[in-house]
Amino acid sequence: DSKLTPDNINAALKKAYDDYKGLKEGKNADYIPALAKVDSNIYGIALVTVDGKIYTVGDVKSEVAIESISKVFTMAKVMEESGVESLPHNMGVDATGQVFNSIYAIEQHKGAEMNPLVNAGAITTTSMVKGKSYDEIWNKILNYYGEFAGRSDLKVIEDVYKSEADTNQRNQAIAYLMYAYGHIKGDPMQATDIYTRQCSVGVSAKDLAVMASTLANAGVNPVTGKTLMKADDVPEALAVMATAGLYDDAGKWLYATGLPGKSGVGGGLIAVSPGKFGIAVVSPPLDEAGNSVRGQKAITDISAALGGNPYSVQ
Ligand code: GLN
Repeated sequence: DSKLTPDNINAALKKAYDDYKGLKEGKNADYIPALAKVDSNIYGIALVTVDGKIYTVGDVKSEVAIESISKVFTMAKVMEESGVESLPHNMGVDATGQVFNSIYAIEQHKGAEMNPLVNAGAITTTSMVKGKSYDEIWNKILNYYGEFAGRSDLKVIEDVYKSEADTNQRNQAIAYLMYAYGHIKGDPMQATDIYTRQCSVGVSAKDLAVMASTLANAGVNPVTGKTLMKADDVPEALAVMATAGLYDDAGKWLYATGLPGKSGVGGGLIAVSPGKFGIAVVSPPLDEAGNSVRGQKAITDISAALGGNPYSVQ
């Protein structure tokens, strides 16, 4: 691929970094109190090609809570354990067009036309991870994230977990509704708590880019060489990211970039150019939909410069 040379990649990363470093738009999420206190100036960009080369600019070491980006990897776990059909069968794979924690979206179709990347579908997805105990399920999820990131030492950011656990009554209500409609089969409060914990895992821009690159590389982590998903299951995961990864702004995002992506209210944003690269930005200030402002702008420009849009065949 002629555009994907080391010089072009470094130049595109540096330009996007410089262009948006001074940007003062958006603000940290504050409905989870601990997220409001995170340094808004953290800004890093990492790109990992499918041959496992890592390119970075800015602060790619500071860790923020992974938040909703975790939903992708729990979804991947359920795909591997129970097959890709288990998800549409249980809670759907349709964009809701509503905010990520919408209760209205559940009510519209009794929880049946959701997707694994909004809270109702994500808590349901977490409830589908197999295991006999809380700890067994939790350790499985955390280890799987670590394999995607190529790190065995990922940890929960305890104050984020505590802060969200103290204030997640809305997610508890969502989980009870999904239970009432028969989508969550086990204990809805256990699923909500494991979901809250998975959202509190600390990750850097570099970690997120390695995670995204595994999706770009047909399920094989290009840095560690480990196979984490069946190649056949990756297109389905990317499809849900394309339609719902940026919530009610997923359409605008896809229009601008063509890239399956996923945001988190901690300020992370990942995107996948299949067969080419995974990219991630960490920058906590968010727009109204809950997506990193710098993240969206930087990834849009970098992908355009590198020919990342999978719908473009010139
Ligand atoms: N843990 C957050 C929540 O459930 C994740 C939301 C997000 O990143 N969009 O509200």
